[in-house]
Amino acid sequence: MSDARAAVAAVVDPEIRVVTIEDLGILRDVEVEPGTGRVVVTITPTYTGCPAMDVIRADIRRAVTAAGHPDVEVRTVHSPAWSTDWISDAGRAKLAAAGIAPPAPVRRDGVVPLTLTVRCPRCGSPETEQLSRFGSTACKALWRCRACSEPFDTVKAL
Ligand SMILES: [Zn+2]
Repeated sequence: MSDARAAVAAVVDPEIRVVTIEDLGILRDVEVEPGTGRVVVTITPTYTGCPAMDVIRADIRRAVTAAGHPDVEVRTVHSPAWSTDWISDAGRAKLAAAGIAPPAPVRRDGVVPLTLTVRCPRCGSPETEQLSRFGSTACKALWRCRACSEPFDTVKAL
């Protein structure tokens, strides 16, 4: 892994600061162009209109510049579309450790994705209910566990 790639991979999500953009699967590619030394970073945005993406682009530029590469280009690709399935196992473990329920698996055999049960990140109970479609940020939803009655955030399955 190049130092530029390592610098980009360490950029944390501005809204869920326990996971990096690599954990989330946002980071697609980091290339250093031979000759020019320009670093081209390719990312796929998460939720449409998520304001965090502007912050992420700025953070990527800052991280790569700090690693000694002043010439940075951040490219955004929308296809294939990001889904919560791209969040790595390490990312899911970090979310759970922070008390945020990782996104539930989404069945993709139908036209409309069907969200399966969200498990409580504290006690693991599947007896949970959604309180609000919007949690502390637009990318999260607020749920409550019926077993331990604790509210918790979950990353919306997509
Ligand atoms: Zn619980």
